[in-house]
Amino acid sequence: MDRPPLEPVDESWESALVVVAHPDDIEFGAAAAVARWTDQGKTVVYCMVTSGEAGIDGMTPDETREVRIGEQIASARVVGVEAVEFLGLPDGIVEYGLPLRRAIAEVVRKHQPEIVITNNFRESWGGTFPNQSDHIAVGQGALDAVRDAGNRWIFPEQLTEGLQPWGGVTAVWAAGSPQSKHGVDTTETFDRGVESLKAHQAYIDGLGWEDFDPAEFLEGLSRPAGARLGVTHGTTFEVFSMVFGE
Ligand SMILES: [Zn+2]
Repeated sequence: MDRPPLEPVDESWESALVVVAHPDDIEFGAAAAVARWTDQGKTVVYCMVTSGEAGIDGMTPDETREVRIGEQIASARVVGVEAVEFLGLPDGIVEYGLPLRRAIAEVVRKHQPEIVITNNFRESWGGTFPNQSDHIAVGQGALDAVRDAGNRWIFPEQLTEGLQPWGGVTAVWAAGSPQSKHGVDTTETFDRGVESLKAHQAYIDGLGWEDFDPAEFLEGLSRPAGARLGVTHGTTFEVFSMVFGE
C-alpha cells in the first residue's frame, strides 16, 4: 500500500484519558501505544462508555457485563493502566447527545488530562464496511465533551460536587482513523499490546472467529502503520487540536 508517511505524535504530555465505547476497543489497535506511554512514566486512565454487555451472543447482558468489566481491568493492567472507569451507558445503542457529553465531560473534569484519546469515529475504517454506531457517537461525544469540560456554564451542576472546569486538553486523538496523519512507534511494546488483547478471552471466544490470532490480527494494523513511520510496528492517530487557531 502506497500511503504517505506519518508524522510522529507530540509526546510532550503527562496524562491522558482514553474514552471509548466498549471494552476491547483500545486493545484492537492502540494498547501497544498506551504501554509505550506508561513506560515513559505518563499516566493513562481508561473510560468505557458502556460495559460491552451486548457483545457476546451466547451470554445474557447481565452475565456478560461482569465478565467484560473483569477482562477490561485485566487488559488495562497489562499496559500499565490502573484506573478504569465504566459509565454504564447501554451497549450497542449509545446515542450522541447531551447525556453522553455530560457523562464524558464529568470524567474529563475529574481526571484533568492533557490529551484525550478515542477510537476512529469516521464513517468507516477506510473500506466500505461501516464503523459501528457507538464508536461514532462516542468519538464525537468525546470531542465535544472536551470543550464542554472547560466551560463553567455548561453542565454547571457538576461543579457543586467538587469538580472544577478543566480546559487543559490540548488535543483529541482518534486511533485507527482512515484520515490519520500521525502515528507512534510501538515496536518495543507490540507484544504487550497483543497480551492486552488476549485478556479479552471470553469476548474473543464469543465472536466465534475461527483461528483468530491476536498477534496476526494486530500485525495487520501495526506493520503498515510502522512502515509509514519508518519502524516495524506503529499505531495511527487522527489529531484534532483543541487549541483555538491551530
Ligand atoms: Zn467497539
